[in-house]
Amino acid sequence: MKDIELPRRVIVGDGAINKIRTLVSELNLKNDPLIITDETIEKIAARDVADQLDSDIYIFKNFDDYEIENCINLIKRNGIRHIIGVGGGSVIDFTKICAFRVGIPYLSVPTSASHDGITSPQATLKHKKPVSIRVNSPIGIVADTEIIRNAPHRLLASGCADVISNYTAILDWKLAHEEKGEYYGDYAASLSMMSAKIVIENIDRIRDDVSILVEALISSGVAMGIAGSSRPCSGAEHLFSHALDMIAEKPALHGEQCGVGCIMMAYLHNAEWENIRDSLKRINAPTTARELGVRDEEVVKALTIAHKIRDRYTILRDGLTKEEARDVAIKTGVIRR
Ligand SMILES: [Zn+2]
Repeated sequence: MKDIELPRRVIVGDGAINKIRTLVSELNLKNDPLIITDETIEKIAARDVADQLDSDIYIFKNFDDYEIENCINLIKRNGIRHIIGVGGGSVIDFTKICAFRVGIPYLSVPTSASHDGITSPQATLKHKKPVSIRVNSPIGIVADTEIIRNAPHRLLASGCADVISNYTAILDWKLAHEEKGEYYGDYAASLSMMSAKIVIENIDRIRDDVSILVEALISSGVAMGIAGSSRPCSGAEHLFSHALDMIAEKPALHGEQCGVGCIMMAYLHNAEWENIRDSLKRINAPTTARELGVRDEEVVKALTIAHKIRDRYTILRDGLTKEEARDVAIKTGVIRR
Protein backbone atom coordinates (compact mmCIF):
# COMPACT_ATOMS: atom_id res chain seq x y z
CA MET A 1 0.00 0.00 0.00
CA LYS A 2 1.24 3.49 -0.80
CA ASP A 3 0.64 6.47 1.41
CA ILE A 4 1.57 9.66 -0.43
CA GLU A 5 1.59 13.00 1.26
CA LEU A 6 2.12 16.21 -0.69
CA PRO A 7 1.81 19.94 0.00
CA ARG A 8 -1.59 21.35 -0.97
CA ARG A 9 -0.46 24.81 -2.02
CA VAL A 10 2.89 26.15 -3.20
CA ILE A 11 3.44 29.84 -3.83
CA VAL A 12 6.75 30.85 -5.45
CA GLY A 13 7.73 34.32 -6.60
CA ASP A 14 8.91 37.79 -5.69
CA GLY A 15 6.82 39.15 -2.82
CA ALA A 16 5.19 35.75 -2.19
CA ILE A 17 5.47 36.37 1.55
CA ASN A 18 2.71 38.97 1.28
CA LYS A 19 0.30 36.20 0.26
CA ILE A 20 0.58 34.37 3.52
CA ARG A 21 -2.59 35.72 5.06
CA THR A 22 -4.64 34.74 2.02
CA LEU A 23 -3.04 31.32 1.96
CA VAL A 24 -3.79 30.67 5.62
CA SER A 25 -7.46 31.48 5.12
CA GLU A 26 -7.71 29.53 1.84
CA LEU A 27 -6.26 26.47 3.53
CA ASN A 28 -8.92 26.88 6.21
CA LEU A 29 -6.32 26.99 8.93
CA LYS A 30 -7.56 28.27 12.26
CA ASN A 31 -6.35 31.65 13.39
CA ASP A 32 -3.47 32.34 15.73
CA PRO A 33 -0.69 30.18 14.43
CA LEU A 34 2.71 30.26 16.09
CA ILE A 35 5.58 31.53 13.96
CA ILE A 36 8.82 29.62 14.49
CA THR A 37 12.11 31.25 13.54
CA ASP A 38 15.60 32.13 14.73
CA GLU A 39 17.14 35.43 15.72
CA THR A 40 18.55 36.38 12.31
CA ILE A 41 15.42 35.65 10.34
CA GLU A 42 13.12 37.32 12.82
CA LYS A 43 14.01 40.74 11.44
CA ILE A 44 14.36 39.65 7.81
CA ALA A 45 11.01 37.93 7.38
CA ALA A 46 9.39 36.37 10.44
CA ARG A 47 8.28 39.67 11.98
CA ASP A 48 6.59 40.52 8.71
CA VAL A 49 4.69 37.21 8.70
CA ALA A 50 3.70 37.58 12.35
CA ASP A 51 2.39 41.10 11.72
CA GLN A 52 0.27 39.91 8.80
CA LEU A 53 -1.31 37.21 10.94
CA ASP A 54 -1.22 39.07 14.22
CA SER A 55 0.44 36.09 15.86
CA ASP A 56 3.23 35.27 18.30
CA ILE A 57 6.80 34.33 17.44
CA TYR A 58 8.86 31.56 18.97
CA ILE A 59 12.59 32.14 18.52
CA PHE A 60 14.73 29.08 19.07
CA LYS A 61 18.41 29.22 19.85
CA ASN A 62 19.54 25.61 20.06
CA PHE A 63 18.29 22.72 18.00
CA ASP A 64 18.10 20.24 20.87
CA ASP A 65 15.58 18.08 22.72
CA TYR A 66 15.09 20.69 25.40
CA GLU A 67 14.03 23.38 22.92
CA ILE A 68 11.83 20.99 20.99
CA GLU A 69 10.04 20.01 24.22
CA ASN A 70 9.78 23.63 25.21
CA CYS A 71 8.18 24.60 21.91
CA ILE A 72 5.82 21.60 21.94
CA ASN A 73 4.64 22.52 25.45
CA LEU A 74 3.99 26.08 24.38
CA ILE A 75 1.97 24.89 21.37
CA LYS A 76 -0.13 22.56 23.54
CA ARG A 77 -0.59 25.04 26.36
CA ASN A 78 -1.93 27.71 24.01
CA GLY A 79 -4.06 25.35 21.96
CA ILE A 80 -2.23 26.31 18.76
CA ARG A 81 -3.68 24.54 15.71
CA HIS A 82 -0.95 25.14 13.13
CA ILE A 83 2.58 26.50 13.03
CA ILE A 84 4.63 28.34 10.43
CA GLY A 85 8.38 27.89 10.06
CA VAL A 86 10.06 30.99 8.65
CA GLY A 87 13.77 30.57 8.01
CA GLY A 88 16.53 28.34 6.69
CA GLY A 89 16.92 24.59 6.84
CA SER A 90 17.25 24.30 10.63
CA VAL A 91 14.17 26.40 11.31
CA ILE A 92 12.09 24.36 8.89
CA ASP A 93 13.40 21.09 10.36
CA PHE A 94 12.62 22.28 13.87
CA THR A 95 9.11 23.28 12.78
CA LYS A 96 8.49 19.92 11.10
CA ILE A 97 9.50 17.97 14.17
CA CYS A 98 7.30 20.06 16.50
CA ALA A 99 4.32 19.84 14.12
CA PHE A 100 4.73 16.10 13.76
CA ARG A 101 5.04 15.49 17.49
CA VAL A 102 1.94 17.57 18.30
CA GLY A 103 0.02 16.30 15.26
CA ILE A 104 -0.81 19.64 13.63
CA PRO A 105 -0.19 21.00 10.11
CA TYR A 106 2.60 23.43 9.32
CA LEU A 107 3.55 25.87 6.60
CA SER A 108 7.09 26.13 5.29
CA VAL A 109 8.36 29.63 4.51
CA PRO A 110 11.99 29.16 3.43
CA THR A 111 14.17 32.27 3.42
CA SER A 112 17.06 30.50 1.73
CA ALA A 113 17.32 27.57 -0.64
CA SER A 114 20.14 25.64 0.99
CA HIS A 115 18.67 22.12 0.85
CA ASP A 116 15.62 20.12 -0.14
CA GLY A 117 14.42 19.82 3.45
CA ILE A 118 12.42 23.01 2.94
CA THR A 119 9.71 20.95 1.26
CA SER A 120 10.24 17.31 2.13
CA PRO A 121 8.52 14.98 4.60
CA GLN A 122 11.96 14.33 6.16
CA ALA A 123 13.74 16.10 8.98
CA THR A 124 17.26 15.82 10.28
CA LEU A 125 17.93 15.80 14.00
CA LYS A 126 21.36 17.36 13.80
CA HIS A 127 22.30 16.90 17.42
CA LYS A 128 21.80 13.15 17.27
CA LYS A 129 23.16 10.57 14.86
CA PRO A 130 22.43 12.68 11.80
CA VAL A 131 19.99 10.69 9.72
CA SER A 132 16.66 11.80 8.41
CA ILE A 133 13.43 10.87 10.12
CA ARG A 134 10.00 10.69 8.53
CA VAL A 135 7.70 13.53 9.48
CA ASN A 136 4.88 15.16 7.50
CA SER A 137 5.05 17.28 4.36
CA PRO A 138 4.18 20.94 4.83
CA ILE A 139 0.54 21.69 4.02
CA GLY A 140 1.72 24.76 2.13
CA ILE A 141 4.98 26.37 0.99
CA VAL A 142 5.58 30.07 0.49
CA ALA A 143 8.93 30.70 -1.20
CA ASP A 144 9.60 34.39 -1.67
CA THR A 145 12.25 34.51 -4.38
CA GLU A 146 13.19 38.07 -3.52
CA ILE A 147 14.16 37.05 0.02
CA ILE A 148 15.89 33.87 -1.21
CA ARG A 149 17.88 35.82 -3.84
CA ASN A 150 19.18 38.14 -1.13
CA ALA A 151 20.34 35.31 1.15
CA PRO A 152 24.11 34.60 1.14
CA HIS A 153 25.27 33.03 -2.13
CA ARG A 154 26.85 30.16 -0.23
CA LEU A 155 23.38 28.93 0.76
CA LEU A 156 22.14 29.03 -2.82
CA ALA A 157 25.20 27.13 -4.07
CA SER A 158 24.65 24.57 -1.33
CA GLY A 159 21.03 24.10 -2.45
CA CYS A 160 22.18 23.54 -6.04
CA ALA A 161 24.65 20.92 -4.82
CA ASP A 162 21.93 19.15 -2.80
CA VAL A 163 19.71 18.87 -5.91
CA ILE A 164 22.63 17.83 -8.14
CA SER A 165 23.35 15.04 -5.66
CA ASN A 166 19.98 13.48 -6.56
CA TYR A 167 21.94 12.13 -9.52
CA THR A 168 23.94 9.60 -7.50
CA ALA A 169 21.02 8.98 -5.12
CA ILE A 170 19.08 7.63 -8.11
CA LEU A 171 22.02 5.54 -9.33
CA ASP A 172 22.19 4.03 -5.83
CA TRP A 173 18.45 3.39 -5.74
CA LYS A 174 18.63 1.56 -9.10
CA LEU A 175 21.57 -0.44 -7.84
CA ALA A 176 19.68 -1.45 -4.68
CA HIS A 177 16.77 -2.48 -6.87
CA GLU A 178 18.94 -4.58 -9.17
CA GLU A 179 21.19 -6.16 -6.57
CA LYS A 180 18.87 -6.37 -3.55
CA GLY A 181 15.39 -6.31 -5.05
CA GLU A 182 14.54 -3.12 -3.20
CA TYR A 183 11.35 -1.35 -4.28
CA TYR A 184 12.11 1.23 -6.98
CA GLY A 185 9.60 3.88 -7.93
CA ASP A 186 10.01 5.03 -11.52
CA TYR A 187 7.93 8.14 -11.13
CA ALA A 188 9.68 9.39 -7.98
CA ALA A 189 13.06 8.54 -9.48
CA SER A 190 12.35 10.36 -12.75
CA LEU A 191 11.12 13.44 -10.93
CA SER A 192 14.21 13.54 -8.74
CA MET A 193 16.58 12.97 -11.66
CA MET A 194 14.82 15.63 -13.72
CA SER A 195 15.33 18.16 -10.90
CA ALA A 196 19.07 17.44 -10.91
CA LYS A 197 19.26 17.73 -14.71
CA ILE A 198 17.36 21.02 -14.79
CA VAL A 199 19.71 22.52 -12.20
CA ILE A 200 22.79 21.28 -14.08
CA GLU A 201 21.50 22.56 -17.42
CA ASN A 202 20.57 25.97 -16.02
CA ILE A 203 23.38 26.39 -13.53
CA ASP A 204 24.52 29.73 -14.96
CA ARG A 205 21.02 31.22 -14.82
CA ILE A 206 20.18 30.33 -11.24
CA ARG A 207 21.81 33.38 -9.62
CA ASP A 208 19.41 35.60 -11.54
CA ASP A 209 16.46 33.26 -11.52
CA VAL A 210 16.38 31.46 -8.18
CA SER A 211 12.93 30.07 -8.95
CA ILE A 212 14.67 27.39 -11.08
CA LEU A 213 16.39 26.11 -7.95
CA VAL A 214 13.37 26.59 -5.69
CA GLU A 215 11.19 24.56 -8.05
CA ALA A 216 13.85 21.84 -8.26
CA LEU A 217 14.01 21.67 -4.44
CA ILE A 218 10.22 21.49 -4.23
CA SER A 219 10.14 18.73 -6.85
CA SER A 220 12.76 16.82 -4.87
CA GLY A 221 10.56 17.10 -1.78
CA VAL A 222 7.60 15.86 -3.81
CA ALA A 223 9.67 12.92 -5.11
CA MET A 224 10.37 11.94 -1.48
CA GLY A 225 6.67 12.33 -0.67
CA ILE A 226 5.78 9.97 -3.50
CA ALA A 227 8.46 7.43 -2.60
CA GLY A 228 7.54 7.62 1.08
CA SER A 229 11.22 7.89 1.99
CA SER A 230 14.29 10.00 1.29
CA ARG A 231 15.55 7.34 -1.17
CA PRO A 232 15.09 9.43 -4.37
CA CYS A 233 17.30 12.23 -3.01
CA SER A 234 19.66 10.51 -0.61
CA GLY A 235 22.25 7.89 -1.48
CA ALA A 236 25.91 7.31 -0.65
CA GLU A 237 26.74 11.01 -1.16
CA HIS A 238 24.36 11.79 1.73
CA LEU A 239 25.85 9.02 3.87
CA PHE A 240 29.24 10.61 3.24
CA SER A 241 27.88 14.01 4.32
CA HIS A 242 26.31 12.55 7.47
CA ALA A 243 29.62 10.82 8.25
CA LEU A 244 31.50 14.10 7.84
CA ASP A 245 29.01 15.79 10.19
CA MET A 246 29.92 13.21 12.81
CA ILE A 247 33.70 13.25 12.52
CA ALA A 248 34.84 16.55 11.01
CA GLU A 249 36.06 19.22 13.36
CA LYS A 250 34.26 21.87 11.34
CA PRO A 251 31.72 20.33 8.97
CA ALA A 252 30.55 22.37 5.98
CA LEU A 253 26.93 22.87 4.88
CA HIS A 254 24.83 19.80 4.18
CA GLY A 255 24.43 20.50 0.45
CA GLU A 256 28.10 21.40 0.02
CA GLN A 257 29.20 18.07 1.50
CA CYS A 258 26.63 16.14 -0.55
CA GLY A 259 27.91 17.83 -3.71
CA VAL A 260 31.49 16.70 -3.05
CA GLY A 261 30.17 13.26 -2.10
CA CYS A 262 28.24 13.18 -5.38
CA ILE A 263 31.46 13.72 -7.40
CA MET A 264 33.11 10.74 -5.71
CA MET A 265 30.07 8.44 -5.80
CA ALA A 266 29.55 9.24 -9.50
CA TYR A 267 33.16 8.17 -10.04
CA LEU A 268 32.47 4.87 -8.25
CA HIS A 269 29.37 4.39 -10.42
CA ASN A 270 31.49 5.01 -13.55
CA ALA A 271 29.16 7.90 -14.31
CA GLU A 272 29.99 11.40 -15.57
CA TRP A 273 31.65 12.72 -12.42
CA GLU A 274 33.56 15.48 -14.27
CA ASN A 275 30.30 16.98 -15.45
CA ILE A 276 29.01 17.07 -11.87
CA ARG A 277 32.25 18.65 -10.62
CA ASP A 278 32.18 21.29 -13.36
CA SER A 279 28.54 22.21 -12.63
CA LEU A 280 29.38 22.64 -8.95
CA LYS A 281 32.35 24.81 -9.84
CA ARG A 282 30.24 27.06 -12.02
CA ILE A 283 27.94 27.93 -9.12
CA ASN A 284 30.95 28.27 -6.77
CA ALA A 285 30.04 25.26 -4.68
CA PRO A 286 32.98 23.38 -3.09
CA THR A 287 34.52 20.51 -5.06
CA THR A 288 37.48 19.71 -2.79
CA ALA A 289 38.16 18.99 0.88
CA ARG A 290 40.01 22.25 1.11
CA GLU A 291 37.06 24.24 -0.23
CA LEU A 292 34.80 22.42 2.23
CA GLY A 293 37.16 23.47 5.00
CA VAL A 294 37.73 19.90 6.15
CA ARG A 295 40.95 17.91 6.30
CA ASP A 296 41.89 15.34 3.66
CA GLU A 297 42.05 12.68 6.36
CA GLU A 298 38.51 13.49 7.46
CA VAL A 299 37.25 12.90 3.92
CA VAL A 300 38.99 9.52 3.78
CA LYS A 301 37.66 8.53 7.21
CA ALA A 302 34.11 9.62 6.29
CA LEU A 303 34.26 7.54 3.12
CA THR A 304 35.25 4.44 5.08
CA ILE A 305 32.47 4.73 7.68
CA ALA A 306 29.67 6.13 5.49
CA HIS A 307 28.11 2.70 4.75
CA LYS A 308 27.58 2.16 8.50
CA ILE A 309 25.54 5.35 9.03
CA ARG A 310 22.27 3.68 8.20
CA ASP A 311 20.83 0.60 6.61
CA ARG A 312 20.76 1.83 3.02
CA TYR A 313 22.31 -0.11 0.17
CA THR A 314 24.51 2.02 -2.08
CA ILE A 315 27.56 1.88 -4.32
CA LEU A 316 29.62 1.70 -1.12
CA ARG A 317 28.21 -1.80 -0.61
CA ASP A 318 30.04 -3.29 2.40
CA GLY A 319 32.26 -0.24 2.73
CA LEU A 320 35.48 1.11 1.24
CA THR A 321 38.89 0.29 2.62
CA LYS A 322 41.13 3.20 3.50
CA GLU A 323 43.12 2.62 0.31
CA GLU A 324 40.00 2.55 -1.85
CA ALA A 325 38.70 5.69 -0.16
CA ARG A 326 41.96 7.53 -0.68
CA ASP A 327 42.06 6.39 -4.29
CA VAL A 328 38.60 7.73 -5.19
CA ALA A 329 39.24 11.02 -3.36
CA ILE A 330 42.58 11.54 -5.16
CA LYS A 331 41.32 10.52 -8.61
CA THR A 332 38.43 12.97 -8.39
CA GLY A 333 40.71 15.73 -7.11
CA VAL A 334 38.83 16.02 -3.80
CA ILE A 335 42.05 15.50 -1.84
CA ARG A 336 45.67 15.95 -2.81
CA ARG A 337 48.04 13.11 -3.33
ZN1 LIG B 1 20.10 16.60 1.10
